[in-house]
Amino acid sequence: MSHPLLRDARFYLHLALIDADAAEQARKAGCPDADCGGVLHLARFDRKPRAVAGFSWRTLGEEYAKRWSFCCAEEGCRRRVTPVSVRFLGRRWYLGVVVLLANALTHGLDYGRGKGLSRELGVPWRTLERWRRWWQETLPATALWRGAGLVPPLVPEAMPGALLARFAGDESARVLGALRWLAPITTTSPGRSI
Ligand SMILES: [Zn+2]
Repeated sequence: MSHPLLRDARFYLHLALIDADAAEQARKAGCPDADCGGVLHLARFDRKPRAVAGFSWRTLGEEYAKRWSFCCAEEGCRRRVTPVSVRFLGRRWYLGVVVLLANALTHGLDYGRGKGLSRELGVPWRTLERWRRWWQETLPATALWRGAGLVPPLVPEAMPGALLARFAGDESARVLGALRWLAPITTTSPGRSI
């Protein structure tokens, strides 16, 4: 029952390419401090996302779990710049696609079926519950949500499925659309990661 996309290496690699592109744009832009304008040096940090549904990002290479990040080279500034990401949704122990799909799959399930799916995915039930509150309570209170101007507006109780339903195309296109939509909240622009 779990989602084939969660085991699709090509999809994961596609997300990494999008992140690399965003990182290159951030690097080219230089230090975001207008009074500085220094060059940015690479200062990636390691993430260790957990495996789900029998698939581990480790099969994609250790590089996969490195979050792009930069540090201003100017002495006295050293500002950190962490670009937006479609792989990492904040500091969670799971990749963003997991946080999205695990909650979409378990939405509306009774406890028994939800627990079964939670075991199949390898994501604890209490974690899914925490994410559900994030989707339905925390996210709707963000500037991203309020500024989205979607017509009709997204219904918090129907998240995250409601977000996926807003994008056209096949499953991977809709998941990618949702992850791109969420990308602004994956970093506190343009400083540190949330
Ligand atoms: Zn600087």
